[in-house]
Formats: sequence, structure tokens, C-alpha cells
Amino acid sequence: MMKNQKVRFELKKIKAISLAAMLIAPLFAFSQTKDTKENEKRPEVSYKQRHSRAIQNKDLYADGIKIKKDLSLIDKAQEGRILDESEVPADELYGSIWNNRYVNTYGSIENAPDNYSIDLKNFSMPTMGYVTSNYGPRRRRMHYGVDLKVHVGDTIYAAFDGKIRVCQYERRGYGYYVVIRHHNGLETVYGHLSGFLVSEDDVVKSGQPIGLGGNTGRSTGPHLHFETRFLGKPINPSQIIDFDNKICHKDTYVVSPGSFSKSGSRNAYNLARNSSKKSGGNKYATKSSKYYKIKKGDTLATIARRHGVSVKKLCSMNNMNQKSTLRPGKSLKVS
Ligand SMILES: [Zn+2]
Repeated sequence: MMKNQKVRFELKKIKAISLAAMLIAPLFAFSQTKDTKENEKRPEVSYKQRHSRAIQNKDLYADGIKIKKDLSLIDKAQEGRILDESEVPADELYGSIWNNRYVNTYGSIENAPDNYSIDLKNFSMPTMGYVTSNYGPRRRRMHYGVDLKVHVGDTIYAAFDGKIRVCQYERRGYGYYVVIRHHNGLETVYGHLSGFLVSEDDVVKSGQPIGLGGNTGRSTGPHLHFETRFLGKPINPSQIIDFDNKICHKDTYVVSPGSFSKSGSRNAYNLARNSSKKSGGNKYATKSSKYYKIKKGDTLATIARRHGVSVKKLCSMNNMNQKSTLRPGKSLKVS
């Protein structure tokens, strides 16, 4: 009798630990960060790997019904990570404008924030090719992206989580190109592709294949033309991404009026840091709205307190009422 109880207890323990490992594994599976905290969690993942045989061995479980129950818990835990198909990323920021036709379609947005913090932790390199041409004035035309060497047919990857906004062809320009709206507020453009691996309105994760490298449109050799844009306005990708080391310079990038400077060069990151207070002629510079990205567990009261505004003010700024549901990942205007 006692022995039996002990065995049952051990089984429960195994279930609890493996459930914990299964909960954690998917949440980190796509993350590109080299966060030490993440590494601390790794032992639990390897515990699952080491015991996966035992988990698969049904003898360990007295019945299969409980397993199903536990899987629904995992789904629930993943909800924060699984991207909602119907949700438009950064919808409030983009004034609910979503079309499948143009790269820059945001001329009418008036309440653009002066400073906006972009979360870059989720970054993946679109391709591992080296830089062949930088952002900046080029042959009397402005080059709004960075060119990266590819071979025709190379896989091109989404830079962050997001939703495919545009899949189009432009004979004299981008050729076959993709535009992704990301949850962090950026949009990225991938030009001169030879093929699409996604369609309009598809939800994609960072690092997911989206197309094939090519030489279509205004292009003199196979390369990826890669742009980073905020509210339709181009930002030198080198301000955000360190293309030599194939990572982002920092975990966050703050969009400020200086972000839209047209000067090129790969030193844009350092240049921007040194002159971050200079206005770059951004027409949005007069506004000074601040946004906050909702995290799990936030309430209107906690957000309001943290940003020194009343709940009432917070509601009126965001056209919502006190009973509105807060969805993690969405942004709220807080000033
Ligand atoms: Zn280019």
C-alpha cells in the first residue's frame, strides 16, 4: 500500500516536471536572444529531452485522459506566443491602416509618436549574405535599404514576428517583394525576390522562410534589398542591425526624429547616437506621445499608475472604457 502511494507520487512528480519543460520549451524555441536567464532555463529543456522516451512510453501513465487535459494547459500557456491570425500587429500605432498594396501608405497618420521604443529581442537575420550596398544617396537617387548578397533561390527569413502586409511585383523597382508588419512597430521590406513562400495576411514568426532570393525588378545582380520602416518612413537598417555581426546593436531601438536622417554609411548607428537630439525634419516631431506595450498581468490601473496618468485619461486617450480587455502585445498611448 505504502509502496504504491510512493510510486504514484513519483509519477506525479515526473508529470509535473515534464509538463514544466514542455511549457517552457515552445516559449523559447524561436527566441534569438542570448539572454543568460534563458540559458538558465535550458537544463529543464534538456531534462525533457533526456526523458522524452519515458514520456512517450505510455506505461508510465495510468490513463490517457489526464494527458489530454494537461495539453490544454500547454495551449493556454502558449497563447501569449501564438500569434492571432485576425490580429493586425501594432494596429493602434498604425491608426488601423492595413492594405496589401503599397510600401508606404501612412501619409495620413497624424498622431505618430515622437519617441517610440522598438523591442528587437526577437530578431533573425533575413539572410547571412554580406552587405553589398549601404543605405543613403546613391547615383542621384536615394537608396532606402541595405543590399545583402544572395544567390538566386537562397531562403529569405522574416526579421521579427509579424504579419505579411504586402506580396507584390514592381517591374521597375522592388521586383517581387514582401512587406511585413511586425508586432514591435517596425515594418520590413524584402526586394528582388525570385519567389514567395508566404501570402498576404499570413502570420509569420521571426526566422520563418518568407521568400527566395533573386534578381527581379531594378537589380543588376542577385541580392536582397532590405528596408526597415516605421510608419512608412525608412530608417537606415544599419542604425538597428549590426550587419557585420548579424545581430541587433541593442535589445531596443528608440525611434526619434533623428532616425529618419537620409545620410548613409554603416556607421549610422554611432552617428545617430551622437546626434540623437537633432531633428531630421520629421513631420511627426511636434507630437510627443508615448506608447506602452501591454504585458501579461497588466491592468489599466497598474499601467496608469506607472505612467502617472489617471485610468480615465488612459481610457480617453485610447478610445476605450474601463472594462475593455487588455491584450498583451498591443500598445497603449500613455501620454
Ligand atoms: Zn537595394
